[in-house]
Amino acid sequence: MRWSFRIATVAGTEVRVHVTFFFLLVFVAVQGMEGGRGAEGALASAGLVLSMFFCVLLHEFGHVFAARSYGIKTPDITLLPIGGLARLERMPSKPSEELVVALCGPLVNVVIAAVIALVIGVSHWGQVDYSFNLSGGYWHMLMTWNIFMVVFNMVPAFPMDGGRVLRAVLGFFMEYGRATRVAATLGQGIAMMVVIGMLLGGGFNPFLALIAFFVFWAAGQEAAVVTQREATRDLEVKDAMLTEFHRLGRDAQLREAVDFLLAGSQQDFPVLDDTGGMLGLVTRHRLIAVLAAEGPSCPIDEVMEPCPDSLLATDALPGAMEKLQGSGVPVLPVLDVPGGRLVGMLTLENIGETLMVRAALRQARLHY
Ligand SMILES: [Zn+2]
Repeated sequence: MRWSFRIATVAGTEVRVHVTFFFLLVFVAVQGMEGGRGAEGALASAGLVLSMFFCVLLHEFGHVFAARSYGIKTPDITLLPIGGLARLERMPSKPSEELVVALCGPLVNVVIAAVIALVIGVSHWGQVDYSFNLSGGYWHMLMTWNIFMVVFNMVPAFPMDGGRVLRAVLGFFMEYGRATRVAATLGQGIAMMVVIGMLLGGGFNPFLALIAFFVFWAAGQEAAVVTQREATRDLEVKDAMLTEFHRLGRDAQLREAVDFLLAGSQQDFPVLDDTGGMLGLVTRHRLIAVLAAEGPSCPIDEVMEPCPDSLLATDALPGAMEKLQGSGVPVLPVLDVPGGRLVGMLTLENIGETLMVRAALRQARLHY
């Protein structure tokens, strides 16, 4: 995430803090100073917030270690003022695994709250007039915070933990895509109700508003990704690849690629040897950079970059899309056999068009 800084790496997971988190700390410290409590008040408030976010971090590591037991790595966790965000390398594919991964975060807070309650209980043993609810001390607030975290995270607003639990449970009874859409719709509904509630005079809370917007956006994103994965499930690369495009010979000059770029919609050009084998790729980004530095007569083999990966026409499309998205280039070459001739090019844009056409055809069949 941009504007975030690494503060530690724990068990292969980077812990990052977003810059806005420091604003929160300053804000809380200033509030602590009010009422004549001075520096001591500021330190106490900032210390409490740091402890609260340490509990958030432990919660995220609950997810991280549960995911790891299923072979899923977590590259990073980012702490934001609205909470923590663990970025799993992939989502667990089985409902039972997702259920465990989702529950292990709140479970950490249950354990923390229980331990604090136990310690407070033991240390006030025998004090008949001691009331558990009245004290406003540090440990009481931390315990309350952990209980709040359990309750808040278990709200079934996908993609929050409770929503993931819901999708996992639905996943036992229905197909994954449908379970995701049901959970995402409910999540978006809850987010909308929260915002409407605030507008109707429930009192505006900036944190809750941010979380509601995040939930609404992220639920839509995840549902879209799952729907796209479903739509491409039975397709192969050859169903979605470009087959008409310009190719450059190894002895071409940069000007040829510039002419093609200006004349049509193609932005990235494969460079082929005499037998049609793939030598490299000239991307638009690279083309413009070299054109500015070297001019149009630059030989093409000085412009082209090696392809990070290649696909076969018979590869399954979902896996190919993942390769393309992880490749760092906008297009991957499609070969007839491994190391063979170039027969097509795969771009995300063309996959999108293929899906649109197929959806339109399905609809036409429904209506006629
Ligand atoms: Zn969580």
